[in-house]
Amino acid sequence: MIYFSTSKASTPVSIKRATLEGLAPDGGLYVPSEIPTFSSGELSLLESAGFSDIALAIAKKFIEGEIPPDILQDLVASCYDFPTPIISLDGSTFVEELFHGPTLAFKDYGARFLGRLTGRFAAEDHRLITVLVATSGDTGSAVASGFHGIANTRVVILYPSGKVSRLQEQQLTTAGGNVHALEVRGDFDDCQRLVKEAFVDPELRMRHTLTSANSINIARLIPQSFYYAWATLELKRQYGLEKPLFSVPSGNYGNLTAGVLARRMGFPIGHFIAASNTNDSVTRYLEEGRYEPRPTRRTLSTAMDVGNPSNFARLRHFYGDSREAMAADITGISITDKETMETIRNSRERFDYLMDPHTAVGFAALEKYRMKSGSSSPGVVLSTAHPAKFREAMQDALQEEVDVPERLASCLNLKKESTLINPDFRDLSSFLNGLDT
Ligand SMILES: *Cc1c(COP(=O)(O)O)cnc(C)c1O
Repeated sequence: MIYFSTSKASTPVSIKRATLEGLAPDGGLYVPSEIPTFSSGELSLLESAGFSDIALAIAKKFIEGEIPPDILQDLVASCYDFPTPIISLDGSTFVEELFHGPTLAFKDYGARFLGRLTGRFAAEDHRLITVLVATSGDTGSAVASGFHGIANTRVVILYPSGKVSRLQEQQLTTAGGNVHALEVRGDFDDCQRLVKEAFVDPELRMRHTLTSANSINIARLIPQSFYYAWATLELKRQYGLEKPLFSVPSGNYGNLTAGVLARRMGFPIGHFIAASNTNDSVTRYLEEGRYEPRPTRRTLSTAMDVGNPSNFARLRHFYGDSREAMAADITGISITDKETMETIRNSRERFDYLMDPHTAVGFAALEKYRMKSGSSSPGVVLSTAHPAKFREAMQDALQEEVDVPERLASCLNLKKESTLINPDFRDLSSFLNGLDT
C-alpha cells in the first residue's frame, strides 16, 4: 500500500514515511492509494472476533509488509487493553462509549496507535523522534499519554498559560519521562504559530527529527475506523441489528473521515450524521455546496470549536470533490448550546444516562435527523468524552456535581512540571536545543 498527498504534488510514500512526516511536503494530507476492502468471506470470519482482532485485521491491510504480523499483533493488543462498550438507550438508539482509555476521550484510540507505530518505525532507523504538539487541552493529553514511555520518541507539548482547565493542565504536566510541557505566555494561536515556525526552521530540523501528532496524521486516522467496524459487528451479534446510522460529534472531521474509510472497506454502515455545534462550515457546505470557513466560535462542546476543519480536504478527496456524492452518505446537522444543555438534561431523565456536551450534540443531531428523514434505522451515537472531563458544563446543565473517575482524579495530586516560555520562537528553540540529542 502506498500513500499519496491530497495536493498531488509530492511523490507517493510508504506508511512509514507518511507516519513519520505527518503532513506531506506539498502541504497536503496523506491518503491511501486505494481503500482496501473486506470480502463477505472475510467479514463473516470477523463475526465472532474481539476488538483487537478486528483492529488487527484492518491494520494489516493498511500496513501490509511494513511490520511483521506478530509484532503488529502485539502493538494493536497493547493499544486497546480497555473496553469499548455499546450501551442501548431504547433498543434502537445506542451510545458507543469511546472514553474508557487513559485520558477518557476517543482521541486515545488514534494517539496510542500513532505513538506505538512511531516508536516502532523510529527504532528501526535508530532515530529519536521529537513530536511537537500545540494544544488547547484534549489533544495534548491524549498525545502525551499515547507516547509516554515509548522508546525512541519524546513529546513537547505547548499549551496556553491560564487557558486550559486545571484538570487538563495536570494531565499535560504530570506525565514526566519523555513528555515535556511548555506553558506559553500567550494563547492557543501563539502555540500553533511556534510549532509551525519550528517545522520550517532549518537549524532545528538539522538537529531534531520533528513530527506532528495532530489529526492530520494518517496513522491517527486509520485506527479510528476500528470502532466503527466493531460497532457494526456488535450490533448484529447482540441485537440482530444491521446497517446502523452513525452520528459523529465533529470538529476537525477526522473521526467522520475514519467512518467513511470503514464503510468503504465494506463494514455495513447505513448513513452518517455529521453533528456539529454552531461552527458549521461543513454543514453549510453539505447543504449549499459552498465551503466558506469562518472564524471559530466558542461553544460548550469546546473540542469541536473549529472554523476551518483540517480533515475536510481528506473527506472531500474521498468523495472526488463532489458535494452530491458526499451528501448522499452524510447529512450535516448543527446544534446550539441551548439544545446541548437540554439534551444533557433530557437524556438523564429519559434514559438515566449522562452525556458530556460533545456526545449530547451527537445525540441531538441524531434525533433531528430521524425527525426530518423519517428513518427508522438503528442509530449509534459516538460518545467522544467522559462527562467528568467537562464538569463545569455538566454542572450548569444538571445543577449537581459529576463524579470524577479515579484514573482521571489521580493526576490531580501529582506535581506539575512545566517550563514557562514567552510566545517567542527563540524560547522554543533554546528549549529544544537544551534537550539531549
Ligand atoms: C477532538 C474531539 C472531537 C472532534 O473530533 P474530530 O475528529 O476533530 O472531528 C469531538 N469530541 C471530543 C471530546 C474531542 O476531544
